[in-house]
Amino acid sequence: MNNKQEKKTTVEDAKIKIKKRSENFSQWYLDVIAAGKLADYSPVRGCMVIMPNGYSVWENIQRVLDKMFKDTGHKNAYFPIFIPESFLKKEAEHVKGFSPELAVVNYAGGKKLEEKLVVRPTSETIIYDSYAKWIQSWRDLPVLINQWGNVVRWEMKTKPFLRTTEFLWQEGHTAHATYEEAEKEALQMLNVYQKFVEEYLALSVVIGRKSESEKFAGALDTYTLESLMQDKKALQCGTSHNLGQNFAKAFDISFLDQEGNEEYVWQTSWGVSTRLIGALIMTHGDDKGVVMPPRISPLHLVFVPIWKNKEEKKKNTKEAQRLAESLPEEVRSHIDDRDIRPGWRYYEWERRGTPLRIEIGPNDVEKNQSVLVRRDTGEKITVPNKDFSRKVVQMLEIIQKNLFERAKKMQEENTHTVETWEDFCELIRTKGGFIKAPWCGLDDCEAKIKEETKATIRCIPFDESSAKKSCCIYCGKQARDVALFAQAY
Ligand SMILES: [Zn+2]
Repeated sequence: MNNKQEKKTTVEDAKIKIKKRSENFSQWYLDVIAAGKLADYSPVRGCMVIMPNGYSVWENIQRVLDKMFKDTGHKNAYFPIFIPESFLKKEAEHVKGFSPELAVVNYAGGKKLEEKLVVRPTSETIIYDSYAKWIQSWRDLPVLINQWGNVVRWEMKTKPFLRTTEFLWQEGHTAHATYEEAEKEALQMLNVYQKFVEEYLALSVVIGRKSESEKFAGALDTYTLESLMQDKKALQCGTSHNLGQNFAKAFDISFLDQEGNEEYVWQTSWGVSTRLIGALIMTHGDDKGVVMPPRISPLHLVFVPIWKNKEEKKKNTKEAQRLAESLPEEVRSHIDDRDIRPGWRYYEWERRGTPLRIEIGPNDVEKNQSVLVRRDTGEKITVPNKDFSRKVVQMLEIIQKNLFERAKKMQEENTHTVETWEDFCELIRTKGGFIKAPWCGLDDCEAKIKEETKATIRCIPFDESSAKKSCCIYCGKQARDVALFAQAY
């Protein structure tokens, strides 16, 4: 045993104590990120350094989503990070929505610029300038493009992954000949996102339409995925917008239809960001740290050989290698044979959220078995080595499923339906969570509800489109929708 090494690891790990979720959720979240080596602070306020363990999650998100985008006919392209300031001003709602958080470049190359350049907060305007050139006839449609990149929004209150000044994302931008096609595309991409977050990130979401005040600046309609975190606050996980012809008119993106008439195109844009990593931390994490859903985890399993002497180390590590080689190619594994006490090695991988830990001690090698430890439940399962590979694959599927079911149950248990303002306020004060309530549809009521309770309309859920002849919880007038309210990130 190397004492110096052990001491170093002990001290480093002890530095990051994870606060209990029940005591201070916000601090717990920051501690989990530090302990899991997901992200670090940066010298630029509001920006973060994504560490290898966090970036690997993002790469997995990219890999899966990119395939889903391509399978639905989209291609990737890349547009500049700088946008001439005049472009942003072309769509009135859009510029109004983004102005307060723009970063603008005045000087470059030692000179004052003739026209200021905006660091993209989103790329509609720069991309649609190209679309205006590329689209001439109905034969050029649809245009189905996605971009992977970064954007900058000068946020006042920031939190790693959830809200940072610069963040990574993808943004899809499409152009179509008709409203119906654009609407179909916007909903299709919402469904792609839902499938992805449920099946890969094991998040439970409600999908629906945003209210007028919450929709994207410049959109006709915004569709959203909303998820409930363990502190009973909502997190918007992704959005898909039907932009109508607003940008087409501002950027003069027109085409000759089959009858030879000149028409404006119908557009959509849609995006998800590194915020999804924040969602998975706050949904699945526990007092020991982050819990990674297997399908998105940097590693699926880690082998921890246990030994008392050099000979045992050699033997048990070799056994780990043999078992690792027996696994299917898609299983991502690692052998941790560092000269550190097993307990400290367990501790580190728990904090990184690795779904399975495989303990291989002298006894196990003797009996030709290994011990599988589940990160999600802590359960230990002894498996004969002849079944090892099959059991690992099966276990990873079980963990993935368990995480989703746990998240779904949490959401269901914390979704309430109310009919009166008193009940609404009481719930916000005591329990939080999702609250379904009838709403008249007026901006004014929505604003007052927000002012008094900090709860916002997360969406009008698709499955709640008809308000059952009830009255708006705030003003008492005839309700138009049943809206999903929550305090949100
Ligand atoms: Zn009302």
